[in-house]
Amino acid sequence: NKQYRLAARPVGLPKDSDWEFTSTEIPTPGEGEVLVKVHYASLDPAMRGWMNDGKSYIAPVGIGEVMRAGTVGEVVASNNPGFAVGDYVSGMLGIQQYGLSNGTDLTKVDPNLSPLENYLGGIGMPGLTAYFGLLEVGAMQDGETVLVSGAAGAVGSIVGQITKIKGGKAIGIAGGADKCKYVVDELGFDACVDYKSDSFIDDLNAALGGKGVDVYFDNVGGEILDIALARLNRHARVVICGAISQYNNTTPLRGPQNYLNLLVQHARMEGFVVFDYIKQYGEGVKALATWHGEGKLKFRNHVETGIENFPATLLKLFSGENFGKLVLTIKED
Ligand code: NDP
Repeated sequence: NKQYRLAARPVGLPKDSDWEFTSTEIPTPGEGEVLVKVHYASLDPAMRGWMNDGKSYIAPVGIGEVMRAGTVGEVVASNNPGFAVGDYVSGMLGIQQYGLSNGTDLTKVDPNLSPLENYLGGIGMPGLTAYFGLLEVGAMQDGETVLVSGAAGAVGSIVGQITKIKGGKAIGIAGGADKCKYVVDELGFDACVDYKSDSFIDDLNAALGGKGVDVYFDNVGGEILDIALARLNRHARVVICGAISQYNNTTPLRGPQNYLNLLVQHARMEGFVVFDYIKQYGEGVKALATWHGEGKLKFRNHVETGIENFPATLLKLFSGENFGKLVLTIKED
């Protein structure tokens, strides 16, 4: 059972020496337990936060522990009446080939309804983050303008598509011309602006057409958050979903300078964690799967192969080399 364990708390971007690649016997399920063979692991920006010590919305991964990660896989042994050999499940089994669970954190998934990878992406955690973040926290209304950063990514791509489904105007911010072209041509956003371009500010102003932003859905934080804060409409909502540009900082995070525009515009800024909506996941999955089935919502997965490639693949999130929901194939046969 090959596993990646946290060896040290990273300073800045995780290095090879922050990981330990280990191998143990495949475990045997105890009473009430289920053994799952992991097919795919979800690589998420949040994993960087879980490697830090300190208080957060979830306990940090301990030194020497298997790295926490969302997974989908197949039940290969079960002492739990709720799960049979051959069932497919999603759960937080971590970066390892086989994981044990008492079943409470497992959800059955159907590979005949959708490819397994989608349960880590569009109809999984990132899709639900977009759904509840935009509609509940952002309280997006018909006809509003939604600006979303990380627009070509797992969460952002879905935020813009739901905006269109709900009758809004979707403007994305993403890194590079290829990602922006995809966001507009394939996903149907009204516009997408490349933040790496020298003409970023002019392009953003042109995309907004002299109007402001009703919902800013922030996936990146930092300078882009500040730029968005300066463009809010009255009673705008700023959804703090994440701040990937700041996750590898080695100095404390500086707050946005334009926050007083929240006062001027009577706007609000609110953070959330997708787990807040766990009781409503059924509703969210149903909506996402229905729109996907109707062709209104597209998913794109970026699949890399091999557990041994975990450390290098994780870094793609922070260099922007992933194009779509980043997933690692763990199953070898
Ligand atoms: P993505 O699929 O969007 O992948 C990460 C992307 O972030 C990269 O491809 C890159 O895109 C962009 N990025 C990386 N570094 C920077 C930078 N310095 N400045 C601007 N953009 C950068 O990831 P997810 O969709 O999974 O996650 C998006 C955000 O949502 C993250 O902040 C994550 O932490 C957050 N999140 C929050 C949840 C919650 O419950 N609150 C749940 C799930 C995710 P590009 O090439 O465009 O730069």
